[in-house]
Amino acid sequence: MLRIAIQSKGRLYDDTTSLLKEADVKVNRSERALLVRSSTFPIEVLYLRDDDIPETVASGVADIGIVGLNEVMERDENVKVVQHLGLSKCRLSIAVPKAEHYTGPQWLQGKRIATSYPHILQKYLKEQDVKAQIHIITGSVEITPLIDLSDAIFDIVSSGSTLVSNNLAEVETVLQSDAVVIANKHLDAEKKTILKELIFRFQSAIDAQGKKYVMMNAPKDRVDRILSILPGSMKSPTIIPLADDKWCSIHTVLDVHSFWEIIGQLKAAGAQGILVTPIEKIIG
Ligand code: ATP
Ligand code: MG
Repeated sequence: MLRIAIQSKGRLYDDTTSLLKEADVKVNRSERALLVRSSTFPIEVLYLRDDDIPETVASGVADIGIVGLNEVMERDENVKVVQHLGLSKCRLSIAVPKAEHYTGPQWLQGKRIATSYPHILQKYLKEQDVKAQIHIITGSVEITPLIDLSDAIFDIVSSGSTLVSNNLAEVETVLQSDAVVIANKHLDAEKKTILKELIFRFQSAIDAQGKKYVMMNAPKDRVDRILSILPGSMKSPTIIPLADDKWCSIHTVLDVHSFWEIIGQLKAAGAQGILVTPIEKIIG
């Protein structure tokens, strides 16, 4: 049995619970239950505030956890990052009022910086050889320059729209963050085996995200053209003969990012009856 700590509510909750579902780890959580055993996998889920997850894993109260890398770096607990999930992507950045003429990290010398991430900020300032006053604030950090509580902020940014609406400009990116799996450093052999299987299942679900399975019919004399359009990242596409021996069916996997552009080129090259289906898992 492996105990995994995840966020009980908040931004990571939805991503984490759907990842567990995609990994076929079924967890039927009745309202507000804090510890729930999976009915399909030797795992129990502990629901916590994200701030508490690194320490809980470091102390061994939970064996592993899923939490933002930003929290892991801030808490600086003795845990191992074992997998990047690519979910809940954000960054920790320094922002200053738009009207300021920011010239580089030295601009921060002697300034007041508001943040909920004092540890990461302190480390960054030390690396840059800058001395500044760090004001620890747990929420609404972006408002502090407006009310003259700070000269700059150090906070989570994703789209940047919060900064824009508060007349702030992002000037330094200090940490790129995504949700990660962290593990206690002293797991026994049985727990390590369960963790390995879980990571493998997570990876299969992650690899399938953003991918589509595409099937199309094409005259045989167009196959070479069509194959030259398909990206080379996946293994060779499958080519299946059809009842009409002048035609065949081509099956491949496409990335959603380049999807519409490639479909357009395929149509122009003579592909017909293009079928697109989602992929649940990709086992590498
Ligand atoms: P808790 O109540 O558990 O302490 P919280 O309020 O500290 O929750 P959330 O706002 O739910 O935390 O964010 C959880 C994590 O999601 C953050 O630590 C960060 O890794 C990520 N995150 C935060 N804001 C964003 C965003 N705008 N876009 C993407 N990811 C984000
Ligand atoms: Mg928190």
